[in-house]
Amino acid sequence: MLKKGNKLYSILTGSCPRCHKESMYLDKNPYHMGKIFEMHERCSHCGLKYKIEPSFFYGAMYVSYAVGIAFAVAAFVIANLFLGADLITTFIAIIGTLIVFMPVIMRISRNIWINMFVKYEPKVSQKKTNIQQNE
Ligand SMILES: [Zn+2]
Repeated sequence: MLKKGNKLYSILTGSCPRCHKESMYLDKNPYHMGKIFEMHERCSHCGLKYKIEPSFFYGAMYVSYAVGIAFAVAAFVIANLFLGADLITTFIAIIGTLIVFMPVIMRISRNIWINMFVKYEPKVSQKKTNIQQNE
């Protein structure tokens, strides 16, 4: 399932949404908090500019609500239904999950957001030099 060419690949790995060849981020590890939002200006492989327009990634905040809720629901199901925790413990588990996974949630939201606007282009992925020269 997690192959290049699948949007999920780009979303989960944070790779360039157009060619899937390299990471959009300077530091792949979202838990290096100082660098969580530091991205390359453009893809060195296909030349895609990640920040399509000024403040493009503000829209990712809306996505992060949905992603956050998905994580909260998952925490609820695991704590309450699988582990049989009471409501207070479940609540704490949900809060804890959101805090622990916040860097991941923010990264995934950005990745989903840019993947809504940029399509994977296998041809771009294969030939590299032409596009870069034309940019
Ligand atoms: Zn690229």
